[in-house]
Amino acid sequence: SSAAETIRATLFPGDGIGPEIAESVKQVFKTAEVPIEWEEHYVGDKVDPRTQSFLTWESLESVRRNRVGLKGPMATPIGKGHRSLNLTLRKELNLYANVRPCYSLPGYKTRYDDVNLITIRENTEGEYSGLEHQVVRGVVESLKIITRQASLRVAEYAFHYAKTHGRERVSAIHKANIMQKTDGLFLKCCREVAEKYPEITYEEVVIDNCCMMLVKNPALFDVLVMPNLYGDIISDLCAGLIGGLGLTPSCNIGEGGIALAEAVHGSAPDIAGKNMANPTALLLSSISMLRHLNLHDKADRIQDAILNTIAEGKYRTADLGGTSTTTDFTKAICDHL
Ligand code: NAD
Repeated sequence: SSAAETIRATLFPGDGIGPEIAESVKQVFKTAEVPIEWEEHYVGDKVDPRTQSFLTWESLESVRRNRVGLKGPMATPIGKGHRSLNLTLRKELNLYANVRPCYSLPGYKTRYDDVNLITIRENTEGEYSGLEHQVVRGVVESLKIITRQASLRVAEYAFHYAKTHGRERVSAIHKANIMQKTDGLFLKCCREVAEKYPEITYEEVVIDNCCMMLVKNPALFDVLVMPNLYGDIISDLCAGLIGGLGLTPSCNIGEGGIALAEAVHGSAPDIAGKNMANPTALLLSSISMLRHLNLHDKADRIQDAILNTIAEGKYRTADLGGTSTTTDFTKAICDHL
């Protein structure tokens, strides 16, 4: 075995159940001897004028410096004159792709047991450009922006991901038969990138047909790449295929190779501080982070320990129908390690 170098990573424990599930990740990493040193940052209690949000400039600098981080759920404080935390992170770190691995957890019964796909969502433009106005009374307009630069960037990431993760196929999801210019350009960019990856099969699937295929037989898909709005919807649809948002990890990819992994769920204020939260989504997100760092051995080991603990069924948190506390469930995972 090689003496691994210590890697510094930023950790935002976040709000609500965030600190409890972040503690679980810290413990599991310690037990698995993952060579990561956490730089912890909390959301501030006043607006930082340099970020116009409750996120401190120092915490953003930490992610920029480390290039890798893990984020718990954050609850944006209500009030005027500041940007939402997630929007600030996305803008400041230029997080252009949202990646969600979605696979069946053995032993946790859902309608399907063979889901194993990745959704990759363009995260900066499309229908979410925020350009809406009233043309005249009773008529409003929303601009869907698709650029060659952002489309090539996300397509490039999708094919690179497929290649480096042993995946065989990339499906571009679109509605170019109706959105001829915008989705047409998105597809053109995907085709251009596909040519550079002859070993990866490339296909194009119309969004409505894609939904039907996903619900009938999700095993038909491997890696899916799509514009912002379709990605928002399809990624949640896929989370539903494997048992819900509480089990779904995600990772945000930013300019210059930044990776900020995060659970998909929120801060669950109803169960915060009660030692009831399920840390699985954040743990699986931390595994995305390890894979981004090419620490595949550690990622495999931790993933096996989580899957075995859930499959065994002895320790499960309340959301999965069990009675275990967060700490008991975490300890069971550590014992499997
Ligand atoms: P939520 O995901 O926090 O909770 C929805 C339900 O799911 C609740 O009943 C909760 O108890 C349960 N739940 C969620 N995660 C769980 C876990 N790990 N283990 C067990 N049960 C879990 O959604 P919400 O109530 O709509 O939002 C609460 C707060 O979270 C809001 O302030 C919202 O803005 C914020 N939020 C943040 C993010 C993020 O930071 N990425 C995402 C969504 C919501």
